Formats: sequence, structure tokens, C-alpha cells
Amino acid sequence: MSDCLFCRIAAHEIPADIVYEDDEVVAFEDVNPQLPVHTLIIPKKHYAHVGDGVPEETLGRVFKTVEKVAALKGLEESGYRIVANTGEDGRQTVHHLHVHVLGGARMPIRMGPAD
Ligand code: AMP
Ligand code: ZN
Repeated sequence: MSDCLFCRIAAHEIPADIVYEDDEVVAFEDVNPQLPVHTLIIPKKHYAHVGDGVPEETLGRVFKTVEKVAALKGLEESGYRIVANTGEDGRQTVHHLHVHVLGGARMPIRMGPAD
């Protein structure tokens, strides 16, 4: 999808600070980090979110990349949080499947109330 920001990052049409890439996925730094480590993992092929008929193989590759990013970022011992905001109520803002890897500091204890 030529008008999709993350498709364009996957195609190297828009610059990103890429930390890992293979034939099926790209991991790059979030432009607005919420914690010291904030890396996004995307499949190169466009899916809107995890509920968009994503093949198991692709989901597997995306989630297996979490382990690689955690190792590259030195998070294996300290731990981290992975998040996949999905749709309107999930406050997804970029509608290309992505997993946030957040770490490098303790997460807030719990989420706030809904609004
Ligand atoms: P979400 O709200 O789950 O859809 O997350 C989208 C994320 O993409 C946000 O954390 C943004 O900071 C991040 N983002 C938006 N544009 C870019 C960009 N050009 N490069 C890297 N991250 C981006
Ligand atoms: Zn896309």
C-alpha cells in the first residue's frame, strides 16, 4: 500500500532507524519513544492489525523477532513489555500491524481508567 507509512518504511522509501531486518519483517525505533527502549516490529507485507487474516507463519515471524530485538537491546534479563494496539478502542494510530517492544525501565504499575 503506497499510502501506508509502515509499508513505505518497509520499502525503505521513508527513513527509519532499523535495528533488524530479514525477508519478512523489519524492526525499527519508534520516533516517539515511551521508554528508553521502544522498538516496533512489522511484517513487510501489509496487514491492518493482528485480526486482519494474518497467516500463522507471518505472526510467528513477527513474534519470534521480539526475542531478537530483546537480545539486540539487552533486555533479556531485565524484561520488557510487548503491545499490539488494535483498532479504534485499542488506540491504534498506524494501521499496519506492528508490535511495540518497550523496556529499559520499569513499566507503570497499571493502566489508567478508560476515557
Ligand atoms: P500505534 O499507536 O500502536 O498505532 O503506534 C504507532 C507508533 O508509530 C507510535 O508509537 C508512533 O510514535 C510511531 N511512529 C509514527 N510514525 C513513525 C515513523 N515515521 N517512524 C517510527 N515510528 C513512527
Ligand atoms: Zn502497510
